[in-house]
Amino acid sequence: MTSTPLHLEHYLCDQWVPSLNRPQESSALLHAVHGHVVAHLNEDVVDVETAMHYARSIGNANLRVLSFQERGRMLKALALHLHKKKEDFYALSWATGATRNDSWIDIEGGIGNLFSYASLRKQFGDTPFALDGTGIPLSKEGSFVGHHILVPKQGVALHINAFNFPVWGMLEKVAVNWLAGVPAIVKPASATSYLTEAVVREIIASKILPPGAIQLICGPARNLLDHVDERDVITFTGSATTGQKLKTHPRVIANSVPFNMEADSLNSAILGPHVEPGDQEFNLFVKEVRKEMTVKCGQKCTAIRRIFVPKHLIDPVQEALISALSKTTLGDPQQEGVRMGALVNHAQKEEVLLRIAELKSEADCVYQNEASPVGASDELGAFLGPTLMRMDNPMKAIQCHEVEAFGPVSTLMPYDQLEDAIQLANMGKGSLCCSFVSHDENDVCKFVLEAAPMHGRILVLDRGCSNESTGHGSPLPLLVHGGPGRAGGGEEMGGMRGVRHYMQRTAIQGSPSMVSAITQSYQPGGHQVEANPHLFQQYFEDLTIGHTVTTAKHTVTEADIVNFANVSGDHFYAHVDETSLDGTIFTGRVAHGYYLLSKAAGLFVDPKKGPVLLNYGVESARFTKPVYPGATVGVRLTVKEKTAQEKRTPEDVAKGIVKFYVEMHDETGESVAIATILTMVKMRNQEN
Ligand code: NAP
Repeated sequence: MTSTPLHLEHYLCDQWVPSLNRPQESSALLHAVHGHVVAHLNEDVVDVETAMHYARSIGNANLRVLSFQERGRMLKALALHLHKKKEDFYALSWATGATRNDSWIDIEGGIGNLFSYASLRKQFGDTPFALDGTGIPLSKEGSFVGHHILVPKQGVALHINAFNFPVWGMLEKVAVNWLAGVPAIVKPASATSYLTEAVVREIIASKILPPGAIQLICGPARNLLDHVDERDVITFTGSATTGQKLKTHPRVIANSVPFNMEADSLNSAILGPHVEPGDQEFNLFVKEVRKEMTVKCGQKCTAIRRIFVPKHLIDPVQEALISALSKTTLGDPQQEGVRMGALVNHAQKEEVLLRIAELKSEADCVYQNEASPVGASDELGAFLGPTLMRMDNPMKAIQCHEVEAFGPVSTLMPYDQLEDAIQLANMGKGSLCCSFVSHDENDVCKFVLEAAPMHGRILVLDRGCSNESTGHGSPLPLLVHGGPGRAGGGEEMGGMRGVRHYMQRTAIQGSPSMVSAITQSYQPGGHQVEANPHLFQQYFEDLTIGHTVTTAKHTVTEADIVNFANVSGDHFYAHVDETSLDGTIFTGRVAHGYYLLSKAAGLFVDPKKGPVLLNYGVESARFTKPVYPGATVGVRLTVKEKTAQEKRTPEDVAKGIVKFYVEMHDETGESVAIATILTMVKMRNQEN
């Protein structure tokens, strides 16, 4: 059962760095279940200054020149590689006290995050930088415009992680900074750093990342922040006490280093006031609370610490919860039937017992599973059975809203009215998430709008989503993870939102032509060059931003409007009944906006077969001026943006997405309709 202890190494400047010192008793990391030594930390002082310099000058320089598409493909390759190795990680994860299910959240959840951020590349262009929003007109004549751009920061993402998710905690963050074009230095929590180290070894072995993209510190590294500067970003996950200390480090303050903090929080679950025993929601509530108390032995930042139920239901809920918790078999996760493993180590168990004692100053312990662990011993393993506390006067409680016992511990409390439930949930002073379990839309809407300011995420759980709900405790790659106040005030992931944390947003001002050149996106009013041949006859590689087709003109007739009404079936009064226009802005029968767009296509399309494969959508169409019979319209079709596409199979046609800016104007030169159309265009070089 015991195996030779690992000797953890740092990975610095693209070298594995073993400890120069003999392993000490203090550096030993023990198996959570059986108590033997799993690994020895590398407690040598790290030359953080050199590591930071390497990350900025090598890692950053390698990553920031890659396009979002290249960085995204790199994440996908890495996710596929790690997925193949996942069983090795599961084997090691057992030492942290985790069950297979607990490890799945950590390992496959982390790899899933890499996949999600890999897919997110499709929302970005083919450039190393990103556009934020659209162009902003800043002058009357249109010769001065603005645009926000996002460029990769030129520093390093320094990740200081908590012990409870050694894999996910790293991958959920590095996926985002790599997609943004920034390298990482990862400092996992000492307690479980052997699992993080194993994953980093595979990352390095894969040779997928460029040099300098990742460095790892497997030891205390108390000098970690001594060399941060204005180019860097720090993310911290851990206790509020440590977070606050690090956030106020003089270098962080002096250099305005962004510090994203995810700290402990007193998350809650609330049973809606109109739920009754026997309702589906009653059972869903009990199941969710039990799950949150027992998964990862309650060592989850999102775990439910406070349980609020309508006063008249407190006894039935208590009974149902105790019955559910008593079915949880505790022990060695490798034994048949075991559903809950051990806390990460004895120090953590002592810590949780201390917190329970604090809670007991105002709450009663109504249940603690004290069964002996299956296949393990209480002396060697850090076991603690699920513990349910109860406090009957939560408005007066202090500890229940303050003390986080980071283990399988939660406190049951009653409330009178929905307003009280909202107030109680908010008494956590800022939480990562809460769950409101109810099928009553009025209660749900009121709760969510009043509780949202104090929460990073709210799960509304009812019969409508329960089959597919990912549950209270799961932060998801495309949703923001973080919370206000006590929860640290940070935000992670959230799809594109997360990427922006590692990029500098800069407002660019200038002429439309200059801003088009910088953004590689045509800005209205920018320089246009008449295309030759027609844009529809040019391959992807040959299309140039700003190149334009100016079409023939067409005079709109009443017959056009009548015909379009008949073809489309759109007989809206303003198009068909001239006598109905009193009180409208129209002075006559007006052409359909969709007619104008269709006519625009009729004017700008070159019908001969060519490189344009298909038109797959229209973005941001606007009808800017009414068009009446007699108006003469023409179109300018301009190349706006281009993004090359990957081939799915070697046989696939090599192609890219081209956005065209369509501007229809009338005989006065004023714009009557604008839109961006999306097309797929073949490449000349089919080897791409
Ligand atoms: P912790 O003791 O606060 O440690 C967090 C991290 O900070 C560890 O990597 C730790 O390294 C490091 N650290 C501590 N002092 C440092 C210093 N002076 N300089 C540089 N690094 C330093 O928290 P933990 O015990 O690992 O994690 C449990 C806590 O984290 C719980 O309270 C939980 O609620 C919270 N948590 C929050 C979230 C979230 O997303 N909000 C997620 C997970 C956990 P060492 O391990 O080497 O000391």
